[in-house]
Order: sequence, then C-alpha cells, then structure tokens
Amino acid sequence: MLQRRVRHYRSLPAEQQRRVEHITQVMAAEKEWAGVGDFRVTEDMRVTIAGQAAVMVSGFQEEYFFDRLDTLVIHPGTVQFTAAQASRNPNLPAGLLDGIAWHHGPVVLSWGRVRRELKGHSPGRNVVLHEFAHHLDGLCGDMDGAPPLGDRQRQRRWYAVTEAEYLRLVGAVRRGEATLLDHYGAKNRAEFFAVATECFFELPHELAERHAQLYAALADFYRQDPRRWLPRLTPTLADPATSGQWVNIGYRDRRRDDVARMRAMRAMPTGDALFALGLDHLQMGRAAEALRVFTALVQNDPRDEESLAHRAAAQFQLGRLDEARVDCNAALAIDPDDIKALCVRAELQLDDGQAEAALADADRAVEASPGNVEARLARARIWLTLDRPRKAVADLNEALGREPYAAAAYFERGRAKRALGRHGEAEQDIARAKLLEPDRDWAE
Ligand SMILES: [Zn+2]
Repeated sequence: MLQRRVRHYRSLPAEQQRRVEHITQVMAAEKEWAGVGDFRVTEDMRVTIAGQAAVMVSGFQEEYFFDRLDTLVIHPGTVQFTAAQASRNPNLPAGLLDGIAWHHGPVVLSWGRVRRELKGHSPGRNVVLHEFAHHLDGLCGDMDGAPPLGDRQRQRRWYAVTEAEYLRLVGAVRRGEATLLDHYGAKNRAEFFAVATECFFELPHELAERHAQLYAALADFYRQDPRRWLPRLTPTLADPATSGQWVNIGYRDRRRDDVARMRAMRAMPTGDALFALGLDHLQMGRAAEALRVFTALVQNDPRDEESLAHRAAAQFQLGRLDEARVDCNAALAIDPDDIKALCVRAELQLDDGQAEAALADADRAVEASPGNVEARLARARIWLTLDRPRKAVADLNEALGREPYAAAAYFERGRAKRALGRHGEAEQDIARAKLLEPDRDWAE
C-alpha cells in the first residue's frame, strides 16, 4: 500500500523506508481512526494518511509515533460548516475546509481532498503534511509556527529565518505577487509553517532554489533533505511570474473562485442555482445580496418555505426584525417543522426577552431533527440565558458529536462550563473555538 499510495515512500532510501513502515504500522494500528457519520475508514486510508505523516518524522533521531495524537477524524468529503453557522459569521470559510488540527486534539481530514492530491490534482499541496505540521507545531506551547527545536541556538536561528520569510510572503501577498509558497501561509505564522512544510516535502528542489535559508531551517528541524531522494516534480523551475504555473492563490481560496462557481451553477436548474447563490451570500455575510436573491425566489413561488426561512435569516442579519418575524411565520405556516425558520424565530424571541417562547421553538426544532447542529446550538444559547448551563452542555455535546469542528459550539460550551465553575475545560473549549476561527470576533 505504501508503495502504491505514498509518492515519497517510493523514492526513499531503504533504511528510511523501514522507519516509515514501522511508524505507519504503529499509527495505523494504535490511533483511533473515526469516520464521520456512516463513513468507514479502511486500512488503505489509514496507511495512506499515516504513511505520509510517517515520512515527515522519519528523519528524527529517535523514532516518533505522534504519541500526543490519539484520534484522527476522517470526513468522506469536504469538512463543512452548516449554512446556519456560516450565516452568523461572515468570516467563516463556507465549505472550504480540507482539514483541521486541534491543539492537543484530533487531526481532522477530508478523505476526498487526500485522494484528489494522490491523483496529482494539486501539485505542491498536501493536506496531510499540512495538518500534521500544525500538530508538530503545537507540541511545544502554542501553535505559533515554532515547532520543538531543542536548544536555544537552533531556536534563535529558526526565528530569524522564518520571521523574515514570513514577512516576505505577507508582503508579496499584499502586492498580489505570484509566490512558490501558498498565499494561505500569509494568514499567520502557524499557517506559514504548515505551508512551508508542504512545500519542503512536495517541492524541495524549487524551495531550496528560491528560499535557501528557509529550506535549511526546515531541513534542520525535520532532520532530512528531501532533495536527495525526491525527484523534481517540474523539469525546470518555471518563472512563476510569467509561466502562471505556480501562480498561487492557494487552494483554499481557489475554491471560492467565482468563475468555477458560476460554471457549476449554470449546470443546475435555475431555482436551485439561485438558492445556492443566496446561501453563498448569506454564508459570506452579504445579507443584503442574500435578501435580494431570496426575495426573487419567493416572488416566483410564494410557498417556497425554504426561501422564506432563509430570507428571514437575511432580514435578521440586517436588523430588520419585524420583516424577519413575518417571514418566519409565513414559512412555519407552510411547514411547522422548518428548522431554519424555527431557529431564526427562536433567536428573535430571545432578543425580545421572551426566552420561554424561544425555548418552545428550539424544542420543536430539536424534536423535528435531533441531529441538527443549528437547532442544538440555538437551544443551548437559550439554556444559557435561562441560567441552565448543564442543559446547554448536553445540547452542545450532542452538536459536537455530530460536527467535531463546530467552533461556535465549542465557544458556547466554554461559556456554559464557566458558569458551572469548570474553568480549565471552559478555557480549553474557548481556545479551540478561537483556534478554529481566529478571524472571528468572539464576544466574551
Ligand atoms: Zn492550516
């Protein structure tokens, strides 16, 4: 399986291959591999993922088995947020996640992404390397782009080189220049380390040519020189500025590409395409645009309760509370169990100080769909307002069991645990929420 699945393994010297085999065996057998929902994690998947992670640490003097990592969560497709979570947070990257590494927690990966990369769909990118780099980064203190380096001198050298390279990338991205390193690395120092690691193992020749000092720093940390064994992916290093080959908008951003989205939408029935466009607007926090789209849909079909409910959410975001209430009621007159309308109306009522009425709506939403994360989250917020933190924790545990990456659920559970005096756990939850969505304005 390693031979077939892991490109790096095929090129490694025999002695390093043995190390990779050993580490892969231990990881595949001893970690907890959890599939999301009904998704079954096969041995092939385990070996493919563990094998790539093993390559990263196969240069370490002492064999390292990712001891601090207990669980890997594997999604069949993209790791996705619900429209509801997204509608509350304009910064949330809707449906864009290929993986997450929790600080002191599980690594979450999209098998769809891993598989596409194996097929060579995105040269230079590797989500497994990316997420495991975050994990290594978090082994000593924060996930801040500084992995454990041992002695002071190496640390100083690391900071000097990576800080300069990081700022260089930030500057290039601001100016819109093409770079070898994924633009996503300019987000913060942790992403920079993860992106540089991807490049180090995927495009070592190119990285060494363009960023010699960064390459040396990474070779010093990983204790290996992939140039020695990995064949060059490109025959010659093309000039990124002219060839366009390495023009890097980052695969995470590329998915938001308007042209690609328009193409997909054109293939859909008009109503569905419009609805998808409205959801997109809502998720990106463009409530006014969402309102226009859902209004067109409602005009076309006044009994389209999905569009009514989503228009209510847009109205709510715009502070048009009366209009939101009218839309919720209209949607619920058509379908009394419309989850979205129940959740929006619950929020409206909570805002109005009518916690009991809000609770009735949220109860109904949870009853109609016990696994719905939006409904659980809405009810948990009401429990918190009613000073019932224990009930809130129960709902949020349920929500997080469904969506282990729901940042808002971690945040609310943190608040609930604070109210219960469980301060250590509370801070951990809140830190997780911020780790998952660092750009969001978390009002504590
Ligand atoms: Zn990352």
